[in-house]
Amino acid sequence: MTMTPDEPLGTIEEAVLAEAAAVLEDQVAPEQVASMDVLDSPRRLLLVHAHPDDETIGNGATMARHAATGAHVTLVTCTLGEEGEVLVPELAHLAADRDDTLGQHRVGELATAMEALGVTDHRFLGGAGRWRDSGMMGLVSNDRADCFWQADLDEAATELVRVVREIRPQVLVTYDPDGGYGHPDHIQAHRVAMRAAELAADPAHGDGDPWQVAKVYWNAIPESVLRTVLRGLRASGDQTSFGGIDPDGPLPSFAVADDLVTTSVDGAEYLGAKLAAMRAYPTQMALDGPFFAMSDDAGSAMWGVEHYRLVAGERGAGPGQLESDLFDGLD
Ligand SMILES: [Zn+2]
Repeated sequence: MTMTPDEPLGTIEEAVLAEAAAVLEDQVAPEQVASMDVLDSPRRLLLVHAHPDDETIGNGATMARHAATGAHVTLVTCTLGEEGEVLVPELAHLAADRDDTLGQHRVGELATAMEALGVTDHRFLGGAGRWRDSGMMGLVSNDRADCFWQADLDEAATELVRVVREIRPQVLVTYDPDGGYGHPDHIQAHRVAMRAAELAADPAHGDGDPWQVAKVYWNAIPESVLRTVLRGLRASGDQTSFGGIDPDGPLPSFAVADDLVTTSVDGAEYLGAKLAAMRAYPTQMALDGPFFAMSDDAGSAMWGVEHYRLVAGERGAGPGQLESDLFDGLD
């Protein structure tokens, strides 16, 4: 990772923790969010993610683009990412098996990333710390009573219904049923988001006016895009990223057949904001890693264009045509 030599680590960590404290304080009174202002925005986008950083990796350019063009963008993150790895040696003590303070740290990283993307409305499902990161599938952390994997589906979904009925998003973005790559919190985030969309529209459920989300999307990495990225990496001498898989061989299950992809959002103009947001997560992303080292063209193909699969609602583009915007057909 890169860090400016004249900026001692302590200062950076303090700054991140100060950001975290500000966010955690805001969490105390979510009702202070001025919902009338939200409803003044004609386009409202809700994204549901598992851990701080998932939103930036998957949807950073889309989020920045919509925030910059007048949409109200709301991010709901389901856990603090307490069980993540820590890639910065000096911060290794934050890890779950040591101080167990990575969650607070990642709250601060998230706040910094959202500043970079221009997103002001970011919350944690049920408030920060309500559900804990479950860790990778099969670990003992999956069994903790307070982890998100163990959350009661309707209880967690009801927390999200509150946000849906307040924000009234036309568009909801989350993961596919496998959570993209099988992490329990990603799978659970998918289940909670889909259930919340259903419950929010049901007048018999809970408080508040029902709201029907018009379009639901799952994040997607098209096979052809992954192959292109892999070829770029291998050509640049990187033989190990993505488990060293062959660009022309079988792909991991997170790659989605191109004909299932309905929508490609070109956020190349906001690639700088996305990369700045990625740099806000030094504990999670190695800044000297292959993605940052990729040549400009390959980098913007990988990070600047984000792909989606419309799974509920009307496709805005003509039959067989890719949508270029999540709100296609709604305005
Ligand atoms: Zn994640």
